[in-house]
Amino acid sequence: MSEIINRYAEIIGQAAMDSLVNIAKRLKGKKIVHVNSTRAGGGVAEILSSMVPLSQELGLDVSWEVIEGDESFFNCTKMLHNTLQGMPGTLSEQQMDIYAKTNARNAERLKNVLQDADYVFIHDPQPAALINSFPQRKGKWVWRCHIDVSSPNKSVWQFVKKQVSGYDASIFSLPDFAQKLPHPQFLITPSIDPLAEKNIPLDRSEVEKTYKDLGVPMDKPIILQVSRFDKFKDPLGVIESYRIIKEHVDVRLVLAGGEADDDPEASEILNEVRAAVEGDEDISVLLLPSDSHRKINALQTGADVVMQKSLKEGFGLTVTEAMWKRKAVIGGNVGGIRLQVINRFNGFRVRTPEGAAIRTRYLLSHPWKMEKMGRNAREYVLENFLITGHLRRYMIMLISLDEQGETWEKWV
Ligand code: UDP
Repeated sequence: MSEIINRYAEIIGQAAMDSLVNIAKRLKGKKIVHVNSTRAGGGVAEILSSMVPLSQELGLDVSWEVIEGDESFFNCTKMLHNTLQGMPGTLSEQQMDIYAKTNARNAERLKNVLQDADYVFIHDPQPAALINSFPQRKGKWVWRCHIDVSSPNKSVWQFVKKQVSGYDASIFSLPDFAQKLPHPQFLITPSIDPLAEKNIPLDRSEVEKTYKDLGVPMDKPIILQVSRFDKFKDPLGVIESYRIIKEHVDVRLVLAGGEADDDPEASEILNEVRAAVEGDEDISVLLLPSDSHRKINALQTGADVVMQKSLKEGFGLTVTEAMWKRKAVIGGNVGGIRLQVINRFNGFRVRTPEGAAIRTRYLLSHPWKMEKMGRNAREYVLENFLITGHLRRYMIMLISLDEQGETWEKWV
């Protein structure tokens, strides 16, 4: 067993690790490819950064490809993302054309890898149309949808449905997101990697130094939200909530984010956030490079209360990360947050800035409860949302695709 495998075994137990190793043996020699739209920024890149090396460590032949596109393509896919998550709007004929042509260009570039792969995971809508260029594909293709499609814009969903109907299966994170599609659908939750820099335990001195270096004094309770600057993450709602809290308790707010390569709207939202801060010195808006994993770890570890007040959320890895650090998270009552935050047990789910403020004040004034909920949060992630369990479900799903679903029924 390799050193890394042993380290995972220390966390999840030797029996669980042995089982993972055995399942991986069934896929030996099979070529697996993941394709998404960015190597850094956002949850999908975060997961693949851990999933790919762990798969390789287990002896699988796995690679990770990223599609390329220009600004007009990413404007178009952002529109897809927004409207699939329920915002009004639609794709113009011209945008559909850009989408199809960019996918076709990428298909040409990636044809050697994709044509002969045994299994292809296509993540999210951006690269979904790649499949149209591979009518003679050898392997099984799976569309992995990470976003909250519980109430998509109907015409846009019809467009995406046309792209994904030809896949052999699709994966959604929650039952609420499943759609009518002519192939098997699997429910698999995302995960975090306990050995990643973002999630390993840090010394208190490193946490304090990070806050100091980032210019955030630790003299008052700290409320933190880590998120891309995206309207579905509701940073303005977090600021509103902070203002209500501040009427009663002297706290600081940290909004930490960065830009994903495939997100053209981030700077607009960031400007709105900066305007809303209005020179308040107790709010820190931190724009961090996409590889700031250790810094984000330190911010999450050192925060008193972690919020994720999303209005739509595919899953919310920032919630999982904070829970792993024993934080009772205050999360929006939406999407994947509902799967992670169990009200009063390991955190609170809220709908409004007022709700988030009341829960924050409660946690700050009941430290023993906060600690207990934080312990529950850690346990909950250990049982449900680690990368090892995630990879196990992916592998079982692939095997079951070859065995008409029997393995899935038996093992999961
Ligand atoms: N993240 C980061 N830097 C940032 C903002 C986010 O590294 O400035 C990471 C965050 O720690 C998490 C992921 O990006 O691992 C975001 O995943 P999530 O599922 O919360 O949201 P998404 O961005 O995929 O909607």
